Amino acid sequence: MFRKVHLRLAGLCAGITILILAVMSCGCLYISEKSLKDNHLHAFTTDMELLCKNFSSQSLITPEWVHQAETSGNYSIYITDNERPLLFNRRLSAEETQLFADAWARYEELFSIHSSEPLYTVHDEFSFRPPRSSQNYYASAMISSRSSGSLRMMVLMPLTELSAQIHAQRIRFLLLDLLAFAALSLFSWHFTRRLLSPLEENQRRQSQFIASASHELRTPLAVILSCASAATCSEETDRRRFLSSITLEGIRMSKLIDDMLLLASADTHAWSVEKAPVDLDTLLLEVYDSFTPMAAQQEIQLLAKLPDDLLPSCVCSRERIRQVITILLQNALTYTPRGGFVRLSLSYANHQFQIRVEDNGIGIPDEQKAHIFERFYRADAARSQKEHFGLGLCIASEIANIHHGELQIEDTPGGGSTFVLLLPEG
Ligand code: ADP
Repeated sequence: MFRKVHLRLAGLCAGITILILAVMSCGCLYISEKSLKDNHLHAFTTDMELLCKNFSSQSLITPEWVHQAETSGNYSIYITDNERPLLFNRRLSAEETQLFADAWARYEELFSIHSSEPLYTVHDEFSFRPPRSSQNYYASAMISSRSSGSLRMMVLMPLTELSAQIHAQRIRFLLLDLLAFAALSLFSWHFTRRLLSPLEENQRRQSQFIASASHELRTPLAVILSCASAATCSEETDRRRFLSSITLEGIRMSKLIDDMLLLASADTHAWSVEKAPVDLDTLLLEVYDSFTPMAAQQEIQLLAKLPDDLLPSCVCSRERIRQVITILLQNALTYTPRGGFVRLSLSYANHQFQIRVEDNGIGIPDEQKAHIFERFYRADAARSQKEHFGLGLCIASEIANIHHGELQIEDTPGGGSTFVLLLPEG
């Protein structure tokens, strides 16, 4: 599913950015071509102004003058004297003659105002494309009134150089655009993958969570069903035994479901806690007292070390912090053999409280430390007791986070584990 979404999102992202880039580059190309054409026309017009002055000052038009004018640019010149071609005009092919005729026709179409004989020399520049031709020209028509009549000159300049420049520029733009399109597609692919990876990870964790939860629920459910079926056809004393097993498994299931609901609400950030100033030393003593009988029963020495000075109150949820300490103490007592010790201590520095639960039990190997906060993780599932689902540390860590604190793990010097809960003052 994520592959499909990734593909679609990358396509959409690349499509939109490429479209924007294409529109922008077309705009730039248009502006650049326009300024290129304007510059070309401007240069041609300036040239023609000079030529026109020169043309009007010539009392006699000589073949040398025409040749020089033609070679001063890439020009073709055609001159008529009283509508008759000058004798020294180049010998034109039928095509060229037609070209000049078309140019004059176009001129008359555009500048009908000058088609009557002017009193002085005029020149007009225009661009034109002969019919049935793909070649563009700049043209300049010059009309000079003389005592002998009217002298007309048509100058044509093919725009092959300009077309080549425009063509080369378009190719450059196209290549750059293609490069940019490839880069954008690559970027979109990686960007959307990065965007989706937390969602994918979340989905993977959710599926794993559901699979583990179903697995954990199946065991008590199987016990309940078999006890219920056995109870229907058994003696009174056996029935009582089966019913008490059903109750025990029911309690176990209920605890597991409570834990799962707690984690689910933490995932959706719907878990809020009511904070109030709490004297942590008093709270620690209360929890210590409640665990003393259990420690004594397991022949484990339970110690408490509280600071002598009066500490400030910690703004936190009393019940949730009690839950964390309970989880840590339960674990410490579970994973510490008879004759061992468990030490609960509290300290305060730099506006931060530190609650430590140390034991000299079996300890946690380094390679497992990264996993113990994962849901349903148990280092040795076979060895764990039935009440341990592998959710305790996970819940404790979520509670620490919700208080903007942290739950850390260390090795106890000499063996065993130490869990450190860091809590800010407020
Ligand atoms: P569980 O309910 O199984 O104890 P936890 O999330 O509390 O689940 O702990 C996860 C795992 O971390 C345990 O299964 C155990 O392997 C390890 N662990 C936790 N606390 C201790 C400890 N004090 N000493 C050694 N191992 C521990």
